[in-house]
Amino acid sequence: MRRNTMIRICGVVRESIVDGPGLRFVLFTQGCPHHCPGCHNPESHDLDGGYEVTAEKVLEEFKKNPLLKGITLSGGDPILQAGELVGICREVHAMGKDVMTYTGYTYEELMEMQKTDEGIRQLLEETDTLVDGRFILAQRDLTLIYKGSRNQRIIDMNRTRAEGKLVLDPVEEENLRPEE
Ligand code: SF4
Repeated sequence: MRRNTMIRICGVVRESIVDGPGLRFVLFTQGCPHHCPGCHNPESHDLDGGYEVTAEKVLEEFKKNPLLKGITLSGGDPILQAGELVGICREVHAMGKDVMTYTGYTYEELMEMQKTDEGIRQLLEETDTLVDGRFILAQRDLTLIYKGSRNQRIIDMNRTRAEGKLVLDPVEEENLRPEE
């Protein structure tokens, strides 16, 4: 990993239990092109907002807590800095931890984008769980686990790669259960 790679972020949460399974370090990247009405984090949209940190600093912070299950890349949209984030994800995996990535792009859009963007291809390869799709206010549901609106999908990327077709994470069985 190039340790001095700069990443523009709007903040971190060192311990979260709502941004993926287990105890997680959440990196909120700065910059988002989607502008979803009702966005939970509008201050993250400006491409020039936030502040820069090195990949090394992020890892340093991550390593401080051995109880973490993994890292969650949120935003903003991490896909905008995919290439810059790959090194962090590789080191997180080398520690035996996992990577969850949130994005406003759909899985299908990303499959197209990765054909011409090596950074996106590599970040998807380093992602264990992908939460895809824009936040749609009309489909917001506060009972959903790890996602904000019903259109979004929690995708098991390891099984998706192995089986060559989109496989949802088992947690979606609970999210897709009809309301009583
Ligand atoms: S993709 Fe996420 S960060 Fe971007 S505008 Fe939509 S809800 Fe906000």
